[in-house]
Amino acid sequence: MIDFGEAYNLVIKNAVTMPVEKIPFTESSGRILAADIHSDMDMPPFNKSAMDGYACRMADISDPLRVIETIPAGKVPERKVEPGTCTKIMTGAPVPEGADCVIMVEKTKSIDPDTIQFTEASTAGNICFKGEDIKAGDTVLQKGSPIRAQEIAVLASTGCHEVDVFRKPRVGVIASGTELHEPGGELPKGAIRDSNSYQLAAQVEKSGAKAHRFGIVKDTPADIQEAIHKLEKDTDIILISGGVSAGDFDLIPSEIQKAGYEIVFHKVRIKPGMPLLFAVKNEKYCFGLPGNPVSSFVQFEYLIKPFICALMGRTYCPLQVKLPVGMAIKRKKTYRDTVIPIQIRDGKIHAMEYHGSAHINALTHADGFIKIPREVEAIKIGESADVRFI
Ligand code: AMP
Ligand code: MG
Repeated sequence: MIDFGEAYNLVIKNAVTMPVEKIPFTESSGRILAADIHSDMDMPPFNKSAMDGYACRMADISDPLRVIETIPAGKVPERKVEPGTCTKIMTGAPVPEGADCVIMVEKTKSIDPDTIQFTEASTAGNICFKGEDIKAGDTVLQKGSPIRAQEIAVLASTGCHEVDVFRKPRVGVIASGTELHEPGGELPKGAIRDSNSYQLAAQVEKSGAKAHRFGIVKDTPADIQEAIHKLEKDTDIILISGGVSAGDFDLIPSEIQKAGYEIVFHKVRIKPGMPLLFAVKNEKYCFGLPGNPVSSFVQFEYLIKPFICALMGRTYCPLQVKLPVGMAIKRKKTYRDTVIPIQIRDGKIHAMEYHGSAHINALTHADGFIKIPREVEAIKIGESADVRFI
C-alpha cells in the first residue's frame, strides 16, 4: 500500500503525451494546444475609436467644431482633422489623422447642420491605440493551454485557422461484476444496476477525452480477458470498475497481469477507493477502480483526470479555494487521506450527510470535496480546508 501522493506521482510519471494533430480552430473547443500561438497582426490593427462621437483635437474641445466627414466602422478616413474641425465617427472606426481624442456624441449639441459644440469641460481620449492589446508576433496562447471560448476568440482574431492539439486519449470503460445489469428492464433478485460505467464515461468526456463504454462483464477470467483484448485495440486507457479488492471473485488484478500489464501499484492509502490499481503495458494504461460508485467517482477526480490531462500535455491545476469550516469535521482512523463530500453555506464548509462509498446520491447535492490529510484527526471550527469543486 502506498500514500496517495506517491500514487499521484507514479501515475503522472508514466504518462506519455499523445501525438499531435492539426484541426480547424472551429473544432478545437475543449482540446489542449500543442504549440504556442503567435499573432499575425497588431491588435487593434489601427488607432480605433472607443465611442460613437466626434474625433477632434483636444486643444479645440471648447470651440464650435465643423464636421468634415462621417466615418462608419470599416471605412478608412479620407480627410485630416485640422484646427476647428472634427469628423463624426462610430465605435470601431479608424481615428483620422490630426485627431487626438473622440468626444462622446451624448456630450455634444448641434449648433447648425454642419457644426457641433462639446458640452463638457473635459474628455478622456477614447481611442484604443494600434497594438495596445497585442503586438504582431506576440505569443498570445501557450502550448499546454486548454482551448475554451475565450481562446477560440483569440485564435479567430489572430488569424489562426488551424491549430496543433494533442490527440484525445481514447478511454475504454468496463463495469465488472456478475451482479450487474443494464439500467433498463426488470432487475432480478440480488442484482444491482450498473451505474459506474455510465458515470465514468461521463467523467471521461467531461475531462476532454473520448469514452468508449464497453458495458458489463461477469466476474470470470474468460469474460474479463475478452473485454480487455477487445478494448485495448482501439483505446489508450482502460478503466475497469469492480473486482479489485480482496473478495473471492475479485479477479481484476490477476487478469490484468495475464493480459500482459505490469502493475505499478495496487492499494493506496485513501478513502474512499483504497483498492485502486494502476497498470501499464507499453503505452497502454489500465486502472482498476473499486466498484462502489463514490470510490470510482473520487478516484477519477483525484487521479485519473490529472492523468488524462498529462496525456494531453497539460498540468491539471483544479480551482481549489481555501474556506473556513462551518462545523468541526472529525474522523477516527487517520492512517490514510480521506475525501468527503461537502456543501458551502454562507461561505463556510459543511460536511454532508454521507453514508459511505455506496452513497452516490450524496454527490448530487455536493458542491465539492475536501481531502483530509493522513494523521489529521479533526478540522476544528476556525480552521480552513481546500475545496475541490465538482
Ligand atoms: P467490488 O469493488 O466489485 O467489490 O464492488 C463493491 C460494491 O460496488 C458492490 O456493492 C458492488 O455491487 C458495487 N458495484 C460494483 N460495480 C458497480 C457498478 N458498475 N455500478 C454500481 N455499483 C457497482
Ligand atoms: Mg464485485
